Amino acid sequence: MKICDNCGKNNALVHFIAKPPLDDTQPADVPRSLCESCGKDFIRSLPRKEQLLFAAGFRPGERALNVVKQYVVATLNVQGNESELEIVTGDHGRSVGSKIYVRADMLPSGLKVGDRFSVSGTPLELDVFESSRGE
Ligand SMILES: [Zn+2]
Repeated sequence: MKICDNCGKNNALVHFIAKPPLDDTQPADVPRSLCESCGKDFIRSLPRKEQLLFAAGFRPGERALNVVKQYVVATLNVQGNESELEIVTGDHGRSVGSKIYVRADMLPSGLKVGDRFSVSGTPLELDVFESSRGE
């Protein structure tokens, strides 16, 4: 078991994958392994990336089965790094029909307003994605 790089207490489940910064005004990324709570806070606090990459494992006792959800892009603000999504299918986490705000740099590249796309991953990966702009 790996311990969270931030709090040093909990099991590290969220792994931030470092990529080169967008420009030289930003500090170089350092890969980190964080617990669920620190990981969500950390991802929300990061400056805008070309593409923010992370992975998250299954929580202890959780069924090791990936989940899939579909979203439609309602708004997209690349400079402000914010996108409003409508959840269109999927039975994990926030309910179908809900609108959520996420970091635009976590979306698959090349999306436009009105596009439908799906995300599959561990339940925690979807939770981190859906809360990337706040709970
Ligand atoms: Zn932690």
